[in-house]
Amino acid sequence: MRVVSNALSLQKTLLKLKQKGQRIGFVPTMGCLHEGHLSLIKMAQKKSDVVVVSIFVNPLQFGPHEDFAQYPQTLQSDLLKLKALKVDYVLTPQTDSFYPQNFQTQVHVGELADVMCGPFRPGHFDGVATVVLKLFQIVQPDIAVFGKKDYQQYLVVKQMAKDFNLPIQIFGAPTVREKDGLAMSSRNLRLSVQQREIAQHLSETLFVAKSQLSKKVQIDLVKKNMWAQLTNLPQCKVEYVEICSALDLSPLKKYVPKQSLIALAVRVGTVRLIDNIIV
Ligand code: AMP
Repeated sequence: MRVVSNALSLQKTLLKLKQKGQRIGFVPTMGCLHEGHLSLIKMAQKKSDVVVVSIFVNPLQFGPHEDFAQYPQTLQSDLLKLKALKVDYVLTPQTDSFYPQNFQTQVHVGELADVMCGPFRPGHFDGVATVVLKLFQIVQPDIAVFGKKDYQQYLVVKQMAKDFNLPIQIFGAPTVREKDGLAMSSRNLRLSVQQREIAQHLSETLFVAKSQLSKKVQIDLVKKNMWAQLTNLPQCKVEYVEICSALDLSPLKKYVPKQSLIALAVRVGTVRLIDNIIV
């Protein structure tokens, strides 16, 4: 496994491999790796010859009052996990060289960023799209894998690839959960023991909603029930609960099996958690 911090040098190496006919697979991450990330890498390994993982906490996607400074960083143990998986290349850029002082071009995401997490995190998806496009330009992968845990992000990236004619196949990987159902997230590390117990009820709420939808309970009522369940939890502040089209996040008038997304964002203490299921 080669760990490279210089983007240009990695770009050159990977271009040579591509010219030799190697298929490049890419998994961008912000580090603090858990089984969720590792499942994406395993998927990429099945679909390509050479796998590149990036570890970069992207300042562009954090708002001024968000947790950029507190975002957990565990580079040494991340590298051990990647080595054990036999990842080929790890890109670990330094922020200053990745975004030099005169950096001035950004991607702007349209309607997909107007719903769910968008209004609560102004500029977040522009920051995500910008870093992903930049990483795509460096790695020039044939395929890239994103987690459906961040379902809105996955759709934003797929849309960008389509809008900009990027010759990259985007795959979505299923959400990996802890035994009690909590979606794995680097931010779970920041939960206290008590908050960690409370957090398990987030996925429970999604599964209750799923069962209500399958029993033909009206969407508005299901959302109301979710809201009530979540606001009853101690230390929790609900940002949104949403039941929408899994294809484009547009509002759903009626439940469409397999194409409906149930999603939520909740602050448990100061830790913002998101989760979703497709039903
Ligand atoms: P992050 O490091 O949080 O930026 O995530 C990097 C990638 O891992 C993104 O595509 C996430 O959607 C994905 N990911 C994060 N948590 C999970 C999870 N529990 N299951 C599957 N994928 C995940």
